[in-house]
Amino acid sequence: MISLAELLQAVTAYDPDFDRDPVQRAYTFVQKKHSGQTRASGEPYVSHVTEVALLATRLQLDSSSIVTALLHDTVEDTGVTLEHLSEEFSPEVASLVDGVTKLNKINFSSQAEKQAENFRKMLLAMAEDIRVLLIKLCDRTHNMRTLEYLSESRQLRIASETMEIYAPLAHRLGINWMKSELEDLSFRFLKPKIYMDIRESVATRKEERENYIERTSSLVTRELEQNNLSGEVTGRPKNFYSIYRKMDLQGLVFEEIYDLIAFRIITDSLMDCYATLGVIHAAWKPIPGRFKDYIAMPKPNGYQSLHTTVIGPEGSRVEIQIRSQEMHDIAERGIAAHWAYKDSQEGRPTEIKDAARNSAQFAWLRDLVESESLHSDPVEFMSIVKEDLFPEEVYAFTPAGELLAFSSGATPIDFAYYIHSEIGDHCLGARVNGQQVALDYQLQNGDTVEVITSRSQHPSKDWLNIVATSKAKQRIRAWLKNQEQSKSVSVGKELLSRDLKKIKFNYNKLYKSGEVEAASESMGYGDVDSMLSEIGHGKIATDDVIVRLLPDEKDLDDKLTGEETAIQKIFNRAARAFGERASVKVNGINDVVFRFAKCCDPLPGDEILGFVTRGRGVTIHRRGCSQAMSYDKRRIIAVEWDDKVQSFRRIRLQVLSLDKIGILAAMSHCISNGGANIVSAQVAASPDGKAVNTFEVKVENSSQLEIIKNSLENLEGVIKVERHKIKKEEV
Ligand code: MN
Repeated sequence: MISLAELLQAVTAYDPDFDRDPVQRAYTFVQKKHSGQTRASGEPYVSHVTEVALLATRLQLDSSSIVTALLHDTVEDTGVTLEHLSEEFSPEVASLVDGVTKLNKINFSSQAEKQAENFRKMLLAMAEDIRVLLIKLCDRTHNMRTLEYLSESRQLRIASETMEIYAPLAHRLGINWMKSELEDLSFRFLKPKIYMDIRESVATRKEERENYIERTSSLVTRELEQNNLSGEVTGRPKNFYSIYRKMDLQGLVFEEIYDLIAFRIITDSLMDCYATLGVIHAAWKPIPGRFKDYIAMPKPNGYQSLHTTVIGPEGSRVEIQIRSQEMHDIAERGIAAHWAYKDSQEGRPTEIKDAARNSAQFAWLRDLVESESLHSDPVEFMSIVKEDLFPEEVYAFTPAGELLAFSSGATPIDFAYYIHSEIGDHCLGARVNGQQVALDYQLQNGDTVEVITSRSQHPSKDWLNIVATSKAKQRIRAWLKNQEQSKSVSVGKELLSRDLKKIKFNYNKLYKSGEVEAASESMGYGDVDSMLSEIGHGKIATDDVIVRLLPDEKDLDDKLTGEETAIQKIFNRAARAFGERASVKVNGINDVVFRFAKCCDPLPGDEILGFVTRGRGVTIHRRGCSQAMSYDKRRIIAVEWDDKVQSFRRIRLQVLSLDKIGILAAMSHCISNGGANIVSAQVAASPDGKAVNTFEVKVENSSQLEIIKNSLENLEGVIKVERHKIKKEEV
């Protein structure tokens, strides 16, 4: 237990002129009043109030505040009256104890209206005298430290209230150490498993990390000394809850958090902060976008510092905060340090209670209390209060009155996903405070949100631009990915079935017989779905698949012996003309009439298919030609080029070139060098200095054409080479 001597030593350490007498009397008073009372931990009750008083000295509070810290539970727990305290100590102390007692009765885990009312009370108390809240925060800190002795249900209630209300308040008042401690203590009870995991991860590599901190700190110190700067360098792991928040927000595992350790350099003056930053940036490469000047632009709670991240001495990222001693004190002690510095010239300030009123830093509190909002409807009031207290967050209620916190900018979709991913996936809109709103409505503090769902509603890409929470983003992305895959598969299947149907094939039959799978395997796909998905995405054409699904020649022959329809008669006649051979040498057989299809105009060397036509012999198409695929598959006949017979095909080449002297001659050279004869050539100049050259050329096969096209394309001045159809000429 904290002895009186310890307590007095703590107060005189920051204020030698401290009024010790009331503290001594209060210490004796509570020993007597709380005697016989014990805490859940089994310790004497008075140990709690002395600890709270010691915490209050850490905030460097004044004599009345320390006395109040000691007396804060007497009215509620020992039956002492306010009048008695007023006589025994002072009216000021009595009023402070009254404030703390009232705050103690506030229960934040209640319905909206009650919660609003409670907030109103707390704010009034804060504005009335900020010391009430500071003592309350010390009380809560000690209660959190001893929370393990309470029942599990009370642990959860108190921990979540601390996380939602008191830690943000400590943050808003700029008391960093208390905010961190309250967060970690709440975190421990709210998410015990994750807390333990992180604590263990931090502990296991303690020695390694301390060595690293030691090495880095001494290197930084030496660098500063060489530049005649005397900053004090320290490094320590961040608090567990901020590590968790980082992991959670960025979806990282513990090992991926590179800035686990925050290095801090405390300088002698503001100017030294910038000089130190210059030295650090000269010695180690800063990471762009990570430098923040909170000295020039302090955070709303008054926090000042320079933040930077550099590639440190050992090649890993090092996060460094640079601040003066004064800034450091303000960062750690917040409002308490603020008044200490503000009035340091005039000696120890006595009017701490007015700090909240007089300081620009707490203008938000003053404005709030003085505004009409205090008298407005509780829900509206609540929204205004929470907005001011927790500016980065928005609070909304479920219809059952449960209060949920979101990043500001959150929409009904964020709300829906928070409740359940199924509700999010089917979120159609919401009724906010009874009014129907659109999906992109931005939740306002105090809104009561009732999500409207529909089975037919699904997430869309647009939702990603609307939502504000990472939880919603993750779920939407997962849904879209899943959906895209199954959608492209079904589109692919539909396209393939449709094109197969045109040539009288049935997808389902081919699938059941295993032929679709065989085709997908032959194309190198692991399964049919991946192949269908590629079709759906347009990465491969249905024709590429269909050519692999066509029956081989033997099947076709079998069909020829069946019942003769009109078309089969033609087919059979042609087949007889082709003799017994399953394949036809196109260029080698003179008695078969064939022609080259206009649609794809195949050249010797191309892969080809023959189609038997009514009275016009066989039309030769390129394999995979989409028009050919739409014909009756029973008319397909296998054909191949007869390499032994040399023949020439007339084709037309159109060359777009610059209109310059000599280019036509150069192009003609290319063509004749490629072994082809030019039948005709035409040149048409265009007004923009270009020329369209049309050549009719006799070529032997497709590879010869490719060579000619390539050499034309490589000519200087040639822009584009295209093969065009010859309209009247066929063979
Ligand atoms: Mn207490």
